[in-house]
Amino acid sequence: MLPAGVDSSIALREAYSHDWTEDLRFLPDAVARPTSVEELQGILAYAYGHGIPIIPAGGRTGLSGGMLPVCGGWVVSLERLNQILHIDTANLQAIVQAGVLTQTLQEAVEAVGLFYPPDPSSRGSCTIGGNIAHNAGGVRAVKYGTTREYVLGLEAFLPDGRPLRTGSRTLKNSTAYNLTQLLVGSEGTLAVIHTATLKLLPKPRHVRTLLLGFPDARSAIAAVVDILQSGILPTAIEFMEQEAVRFGEAYLGERLYPGADELGGLLLIEVDGNHPEALEAECAQMEEVAFQAGAQKSWYAQSAAEREQLWRLRRCLGIAVKSSGPYKEEDTVVPRTALPELLDKVKALGRQYGFRSVCYGHVGDGNLHVNILRENLPADVWEKDIPKAVEELFRFVVARGGALSGEHGIGWVQRRYMPIQFSPDELELMRALKRVFDPKGLLNPGKIFP
Ligand SMILES: Cc1cc2nc3c(=O)[nH]c(=O)nc-3n(C[C@H](O)[C@H](O)[C@H](O)COP(=O)(O)OP(=O)(O)OC[C@H]3O[C@@H](n4cnc5c(N)ncnc54)[C@H](O)[C@@H]3O)c2cc1C
Repeated sequence: MLPAGVDSSIALREAYSHDWTEDLRFLPDAVARPTSVEELQGILAYAYGHGIPIIPAGGRTGLSGGMLPVCGGWVVSLERLNQILHIDTANLQAIVQAGVLTQTLQEAVEAVGLFYPPDPSSRGSCTIGGNIAHNAGGVRAVKYGTTREYVLGLEAFLPDGRPLRTGSRTLKNSTAYNLTQLLVGSEGTLAVIHTATLKLLPKPRHVRTLLLGFPDARSAIAAVVDILQSGILPTAIEFMEQEAVRFGEAYLGERLYPGADELGGLLLIEVDGNHPEALEAECAQMEEVAFQAGAQKSWYAQSAAEREQLWRLRRCLGIAVKSSGPYKEEDTVVPRTALPELLDKVKALGRQYGFRSVCYGHVGDGNLHVNILRENLPADVWEKDIPKAVEELFRFVVARGGALSGEHGIGWVQRRYMPIQFSPDELELMRALKRVFDPKGLLNPGKIFP
């Protein structure tokens, strides 16, 4: 008899056989959606005793195949552990269960004048647990950093169901090894997180948003360094090349900014703070810097509705590209000064290997999402040649001081590239850590390691 909360009906298994990664599907043997922490613990203990792989899942919006049950086993979704347990307005903290949607938390803390900065574009459907497991970034990371910066402590279960409590409810903590930060970004391979203590900030009272149009993508991306050298730290600097704007407009079925899709590249910039005049002066200064760097057009949001309009285009790009057909998304990240060269490299690889790419991303963080479209590429090119192009791309990225993933994680689809970034000794050290947490290798097997 299966423990409570485990369901092996085919409909549910199919529903949990995929995330947002390409068109990949792997059928789990069962799906568990525990409604209490005790139920979760019972499921883990049972599965461990019976040698059943466990794959933790949140909103299943991952783009690296992190929750795909590639070795079978049970997908354990934390979606029903979705309570905001406490918002501590005096200490500026929130204690939340892993299944809380990111946007739900953002809105709950904003209602009491507080601010949870991590802001992935999938915020309406991804969970805090998934964000922690991938160290999610999003659009505000330029100024506020990624999820990692907001995690003070975690409550989790080891694969056999033993409880693990890390960190504390303090902003500072120099006490022994930092297991909290080891779990952040561990992609569900070390422990199943059920509760998190998160740091909050006072909510900035005002926001100003600016869209800048450049004649070509390269000059847009090169202007990022000039803008950041002007002494202003924007909340967000997002890039969209012309191809991305056209995909977004086709998906939305409207042209949001007449003329924007005739420009080679756009930068969407936001600043926040408590003094609107200061923000307006910052926008004017950034506009000036951008025009000196080659910008030809700018749109300034005068109202919240106009601001929302500016963001609508940017936020739809992920789904716009996905709905156009099969593609591979590479989550490249480099020091900002290497961005123009990175864009050149992507386009050169496209010419060499015969693919079209759509690039956009959080360029204020040096993070460029490179979407390689399958279109009419024959199966052998898609399966054999494109991975070679991606390998070449990652070699370039790592040689420039970058990394294989800025925010989407390694998961299933990027693990073959790990030896580009890590030596055999470094990989073995990580494998040894995994064995300490999960000696039987039952927690999210087949992920991260090549
Ligand atoms: C349209 C779109 C836009 C996106 N934009 C962004 C963006 O701007 N920034 C960004 O960083 N990402 C973005 N993503 C990627 C994705 O949303 C993030 O990686 C997100 O953090 C995944 O959260 P999730 O709840 O959906 O996790 P899932 O996809 O369900 O799982 C992701 C990983 O976390 C593990 N996991 C989940 N819950 C737990 C838990 N409780 N304990 C332990 N491990 C767990 C899983 O095993 C898996 O390895 C986007 C995705 C889409 C589809």
